[in-house]
Amino acid sequence: MTIREVLTQGTARLRKAGIDNPGLDAALFLAFILKTNREKLILRDAEALHEDGAEDFAGLLDRRIAGECTAYILGRKEFRGLDLIVTPDVLVPRPDTETLVEAALTIGTDQELTALDLCTGSGAVAIALKHELPSLEVYASDISAKALAVARENARRLLGSDGAVHFLQGDLFSPVPEIRFSLITANPPYVASGEIAALAREVRGEPLLALDGGKDGLDLVRRIIDGARSYLLPGGRLLMEADPRQMAGISLILEKKGYRDIRTYQDLSGQDRVIDGIAGCDVQ
Ligand code: GLN
Repeated sequence: MTIREVLTQGTARLRKAGIDNPGLDAALFLAFILKTNREKLILRDAEALHEDGAEDFAGLLDRRIAGECTAYILGRKEFRGLDLIVTPDVLVPRPDTETLVEAALTIGTDQELTALDLCTGSGAVAIALKHELPSLEVYASDISAKALAVARENARRLLGSDGAVHFLQGDLFSPVPEIRFSLITANPPYVASGEIAALAREVRGEPLLALDGGKDGLDLVRRIIDGARSYLLPGGRLLMEADPRQMAGISLILEKKGYRDIRTYQDLSGQDRVIDGIAGCDVQ
């Protein structure tokens, strides 16, 4: 069979199994097997596919149909143009989280700026920030040693050295040195515990630690808002990703804790996904 025929059949199998974007997934899997990319694959569509290749391809389709997410099958996920390694120890970086990076980058290009990324997971946000603003001094923490191993590997591959970002293992601020930051970012777990069971099958395969935010989903958000006050410089900004339905509540908490200039940023579907507040002077 030719590459084109294999792709058509694979797409049909995924579509029949109810997989979203079946054509995209089929092409990603075949490109992965042939160690190429989707653009180059199209140019080879009349080429015959070796039997081993067809078997491997069928194996990947089986895993996808069984509910494994595409990023874990490939071991890769693109985030702001960066090819990140992902394993089941980390949350798969979402396009929504690119909004967090974009919002953070509005901070400017001052040489002296320092950033802290909490709940860094794969390191997506921290690495994208360092990549796009090399003068920024970036620290990143996560409670999961396994997630940090993935983050360090990503930094090594994408920034040339895992030391380009200071990775720290521990609960939120606990491993962070006593310095003040211009910027704190976080994509904390924010799903309400009661909503976990209703998440898509693929999402339920991701680490619970990275998703479950307690009863109303805001356990970590509250701790971050509290803790950030003693880690931000005067005028320093706290930016967090959360669920659009949580934004009004988070805004009130921020206000109560003395943050000002609170605003939100929209994700690709136009929903409020990131909230930003400036630490008030009275809390320094
Ligand atoms: N955005 C994720 C979801 O929709 C949640 C990620 C998180 O809790 N940080 O499942």
